[in-house]
Amino acid sequence: MEVQVTRRRTSRLSLRITKKGEVHVSAPYGTPERTVREFVDKHTDWIQRAVARTLASEQTRRDFFARLPLATRAQRQEAERRLDGLVRPMIDRYATLMGVRPQFLYYRATRSRWGLCHTGRCAICLSLYLLLLPQWCIEHTVVHEMCHLLVPNHGPRFHALMDRYFPRWREARAETRRVSRMEAED
Ligand SMILES: [Zn+2]
Repeated sequence: MEVQVTRRRTSRLSLRITKKGEVHVSAPYGTPERTVREFVDKHTDWIQRAVARTLASEQTRRDFFARLPLATRAQRQEAERRLDGLVRPMIDRYATLMGVRPQFLYYRATRSRWGLCHTGRCAICLSLYLLLLPQWCIEHTVVHEMCHLLVPNHGPRFHALMDRYFPRWREARAETRRVSRMEAED
């Protein structure tokens, strides 16, 4: 088994599996090679299971995003048109309720996050891959970013707004993660 060993200021040996399925071991400075090897051997079963699980989950994630091809300009424009058609009415509805409206709305093919809010510029950026989510999860993302127009962080005031305007936000967040295997920031 291929293992990358990093020596650092730590008090104990630890294991980590990267998203690519690589095995990384952190060891305190001065740990003999033999001790590291024994540590890895002792955890072989765990490592193999964790690597298999990680690779399977990454594959699921790749398959998920592959369902919306965005390689060409035409594909991106079409996706943008479709998403815009869904999102505009949502923004109109919540703008009336919340008394706030983004001045700028744009779309990107981002996989690492569903949405982004530049509170100061009153701008919201949404991932085109939202098209792969159920409509209520898209709505959840829209409301989440609109709440950021009022509160930039994820503190208690932010969650109070979410409770008020989108009470099922926890469920929507869980469903979004379940569907996409994406531990995205938002
Ligand atoms: Zn957020």
